[in-house]
Amino acid sequence: MRITDCFLTNPNARPGKTIRPKGVVIHWTANKTSGANAMANRNYFNKPTTIASAHYIVDDRQIIRCLPENEMAYHVGAKSYKQDALNRLSSYPNNCTIGIEMCVNADGRFSEMYRKTVELVSHILKQYGWGVDKLWRHFDVTGKNCPAFFVTNQEALAYFGVTAVMAWENFKKDVQRLLTDDSLVREDALPRCAIQIELPETGALHEGVAYLPLRAVAEGAGGKVEWDPLTKGVKVNGREVTAHNVNGISYTSARELAEALKLQATWDAERKTVILHGNGKRN
Ligand SMILES: [Zn+2]
Repeated sequence: MRITDCFLTNPNARPGKTIRPKGVVIHWTANKTSGANAMANRNYFNKPTTIASAHYIVDDRQIIRCLPENEMAYHVGAKSYKQDALNRLSSYPNNCTIGIEMCVNADGRFSEMYRKTVELVSHILKQYGWGVDKLWRHFDVTGKNCPAFFVTNQEALAYFGVTAVMAWENFKKDVQRLLTDDSLVREDALPRCAIQIELPETGALHEGVAYLPLRAVAEGAGGKVEWDPLTKGVKVNGREVTAHNVNGISYTSARELAEALKLQATWDAERKTVILHGNGKRN
C-alpha cells in the first residue's frame, strides 16, 4: 500500500492543532462527477476559501494524505452530535478523529477505491492497536447522510447490491479480515498445505451442488475478490465466477470457486467449515 503525502497549506483547512486520535471517521465525497478524484478533492481543500478537510482521500488510483494524523482536520464538525459520539469521542469530535474520504467519481473504479480504503483503514487500526469498533460513519457522529452508500438503502443497493446496514457491516468485516487473517495470506504456501476456513455463513446444497459463501472462502484462502458494480460480475483471482446473491451474500459453486483458487475444496456442512487443499501434483 502506498500513501502519497500532499499536505495542505491552507490554514483554514489545516489549523495546525495537535490532536490525539480516538477513532476513524469514514466519509464519501458525494461528488460523482468525472475527475472528482483524490487529487481534485485535495486541491479543493487547499483553496483558501475552503474550511473543510480530511486526513486521507482515497480514489481508485491513490491514497492521498492531506495532513498528519496527529493534526486536526475539519471533517466532522456540526451544530450537534449524537450522544454515543459525545460519550465515546468528545464534545468536538474533530479534535480526536482521523477522517477518510472515499471518492465516487464516475471515471474511477469503485471496487478498486473500496479495496484501497479497506487496506488503509486496517493499516491505521493496526498502528493504534484498535479494532473495528473504532470505526465511525460520519452519520454515526452527526446524523449526516455520509457516506450515503453506508447510510441509505437506495445508495447501498446501487453500489453494493445490499442494504446500507449490511454494506457497512461488510465493510467492517473486510477490514477485520485484513486485521486478523494475515496468517492465511501466504499464497506461496497454499498449494501444498490444507487450510480450514470457518464460515460466518454456512454453505448450501442446491440440486446436488454445494454452494459456498464466495468472499469468506476466497479471501480466507488468500484469494482476491473483485466486484464490478457495473456488470454485477464477480472475479476471483482475476477469473470470472458465477455468483448468486442470497440475502446480501454471494454464493458460488464449490467446484467453480476451487478452480479459481487452484485448490480443491471440501465442504463440511456440519462444522460450517471448508477445507482447501492442493491437488497433490503441484510442488
Ligand atoms: Zn462526511
